[in-house]
Amino acid sequence: MKEAITLSRRGFLNAVAALGSIGLIGCGTQSGQQAAVAAKDRVAAKVPDRGEFLVRGAQILTMDPGLGDIAGGDIHVRAGEIVAVGKDLRTASGEIINGRGMIALPGLIDTHSHLWNTPLRNLVDEGPKMGYFALTLALGKEYTPEDMYRGVRLAAAEMLYSGITTVHDWSHNVRGPAYADADIRALRDTGIRARFSYGTPQGGLPADQTMDLVDLARVQREWFSAPSDRLLTLGMAARSLSDSPRGAVTTPTLRRDWDGARKLGLPITIHTGGTGRVALLEREGMLGPDVQLINPTGFDEADFARIVKAKAHVCLSPFAEMRSSFVSSRLVDMLKHGILVSISIDTAAISGNNDMFAHMHALIDTQFAIYKNPTSLSARQVLELATINGARDLDIADRAGSLTPGKRADLILVRATDLNMAPLGDPVQAIVRSAQPHNVDTVVVDGRIVKRGGQMTALDVEKIVREASESLASLRVRAGV
Ligand SMILES: [Zn+2]
Repeated sequence: MKEAITLSRRGFLNAVAALGSIGLIGCGTQSGQQAAVAAKDRVAAKVPDRGEFLVRGAQILTMDPGLGDIAGGDIHVRAGEIVAVGKDLRTASGEIINGRGMIALPGLIDTHSHLWNTPLRNLVDEGPKMGYFALTLALGKEYTPEDMYRGVRLAAAEMLYSGITTVHDWSHNVRGPAYADADIRALRDTGIRARFSYGTPQGGLPADQTMDLVDLARVQREWFSAPSDRLLTLGMAARSLSDSPRGAVTTPTLRRDWDGARKLGLPITIHTGGTGRVALLEREGMLGPDVQLINPTGFDEADFARIVKAKAHVCLSPFAEMRSSFVSSRLVDMLKHGILVSISIDTAAISGNNDMFAHMHALIDTQFAIYKNPTSLSARQVLELATINGARDLDIADRAGSLTPGKRADLILVRATDLNMAPLGDPVQAIVRSAQPHNVDTVVVDGRIVKRGGQMTALDVEKIVREASESLASLRVRAGV
């Protein structure tokens, strides 16, 4: 397992190339335990090697307050690390990437997404059968580990294409060990930076049954204990304190899940839409800096105070909250309280696609509508949510979230000369209001160029789309929807 996740080693990658991409096949026909063991023998798909390059002459938004914005600036990357950011940098070796006409910024960070159900997009409608929760339950129960792999891979590939270099993979259909392995393997095979948060199956467990903490510990041991490039990290996705199809859970049971995760040193994430959830978590002594609270749609002033006191952090999802709760979260108030807030897509099954630009655009205008004030929030604050705040939320600000020398090289170049972007006025406004995924020219994750000239460099898009489509067609037959 150690070798399989240490993608940084050139020798290992060469060996992988020689073997071919045999890791792309999932494990749908095996029992959970067999598949979990077999996963040890699987190798990653070929991801681009890390090299040395210099981005020359870009409009740089470092999102580092100490460095600010740099017009006509350069970024030097070597062996996956940002070596220098500034004007007129020199390098004796490495490739020159022309950044003229481009906006360079940190890769975007999505702090909560259910990648596995991305193939369900364009199916979700309304009503008892085709609503989001009904559909994810009906199809989710039919998922095999192979379906998991293909759905997560589709989402991660789309995210990379769209400039998202880090995602918090909120995996709430772990139906056995093989499902967790398939999900993690898909993340690893695309080369995206991610936190995998281990959850419970669609359909839920009995309300008084503790989640599979034994397998959570196994996943930590097998996938996350060896020295690695720290591209993937692990967390626990807690059940909601509600009667949603995600599974009702009693408070004592949730506490056992919580304590189990904390014993393993894992961060915890939980949906908290509606009212009363934060108060309950505080009353039970469960809030803390290791807790991410999702969908703050019903939070009030007392909740804000509770969150500040506990140093917990909040993640909002503009499209999903509008679609499911018919509200927009009170971001401006949370920022005034000094709460760490980040932004997420939640699920492409609702939002339609994994497009963070659209989410930022929707967020700023819905905040203006709530507060009836177009100066209540700046485009830069919104971009902070999708970059440095996201990195802080996922506890990876030491390596991502800003273009700071010494951090890992997660960056994107967005063409400002395209028809929908030009002429370039304020580059921050351009990213938040005008940019779309097809404007993303180049994407770099941990120093690997995964998209260049608008094309994916290593991922086989046709294969990823075809296999996800086949997976969904089969799921629909099995589920009868
Ligand atoms: Zn969610």
